[in-house]
Amino acid sequence: MANIGGERVEIRSASKHYGAVRALDDVSLDIAPQEFVSLLGPSGSGKTTLLGILGGFIQPSGGSVHLGGRDVTYTPPHKRDIGIVFQNYALFPHMSVGENVAFPLRARRLPKSTYAEKVRGALAMVDLAGYEERGIAQLSGGQRQRVALARAMIFEPRLILMDEPLSALDKQLRENMQIELRQLHRRLGATIIYVTHDQREALTMSDRVAILKDGKLVQIDRPERLHDHPANAFVASFIGEATLLPVERAGADSVSLAGTVLKSARPIAANGELVLAIQTEKLLVEDGSGSPERNRLEGRVTDVVFQGESLRVFLALDDGTALSLRQPSHYEAARRIPPVGERLAVSLHPQDTIIVPKTGA
Ligand code: ADP
Ligand code: MG
Repeated sequence: MANIGGERVEIRSASKHYGAVRALDDVSLDIAPQEFVSLLGPSGSGKTTLLGILGGFIQPSGGSVHLGGRDVTYTPPHKRDIGIVFQNYALFPHMSVGENVAFPLRARRLPKSTYAEKVRGALAMVDLAGYEERGIAQLSGGQRQRVALARAMIFEPRLILMDEPLSALDKQLRENMQIELRQLHRRLGATIIYVTHDQREALTMSDRVAILKDGKLVQIDRPERLHDHPANAFVASFIGEATLLPVERAGADSVSLAGTVLKSARPIAANGELVLAIQTEKLLVEDGSGSPERNRLEGRVTDVVFQGESLRVFLALDDGTALSLRQPSHYEAARRIPPVGERLAVSLHPQDTIIVPKTGA
């Protein structure tokens, strides 16, 4: 299967209301051809609703959807030529793998003589070459999800929608499939819009991640930008592993936390309440070797949790403020962590000192 190119997707002010519930509230998004965009948000934030509007299963209450420049807002699903993969595979249990994968070709009434070769190509794409005759019941969960993928790709759609396709798989398989999907996307070149509530999954696979909350688009950006430049406290709490602490404004480029002034190398919002987002991996144990401009904090170790590749260290500042940091678990790093009850100094670089508005987009 060759690189078939992707569709440009434009969503203009899309809304969906169910009575008083705003499942989706005035969302606009431009997705470039061949982009992999994840829709990330907690349960009930409107991800499936937005995907349904794109696929044509849900009629928006307002706004429009354009694919490749065409207005498809009122085009039925089967005329949008979109590949779709759901969480629960939705395979036909009484059909063989080959019949399942060929189904979209039959539904489109394509010439029968082309099926065998296309099925072979699609199965090879998902690493299931030679599985044509197997029954669905004979497959593992991961293999079923691959069959669903092959079925979604067989008619070479330029846009593929996926709604939590890996959430039923166990962790190891899910992480392998994430990498496979990423590579598959590069080879296929289709535009992919992927729904997940798992931030690591979104960061692993996506060119950009759109954060949804209460039916609204809060922020859309590249993974590293979302991580390092969250628009507000909600995004900061949702991406990465951060401690969020209310802080007072101390100057144009500084805030105060428990009596300590912390400098930030980033712009600080001019108005409103502020929150400091300290990502666990940005906080380093002070040993005097770090650069002098680092912000220093001191407290008492309250717990040390061994988590394999790293230690999670919990710290209480003198006013009781709780923080946590990660330290690699190798000998040289781990031995710098004193026992519970002892004092520990940590520091945060001004470039890593992320201060965000408490609310708002
Ligand atoms: P997500 O996929 O992010 O979990 P959904 O898009 O499924 O969220 O739902 C968004 C909101 O819309 C939720 O509050 C949900 O209860 C509501 N909702 C979704 N579908 C319907 C429906 N058919 N009728 C009424 N409310 C709905
Ligand atoms: Mg959903």
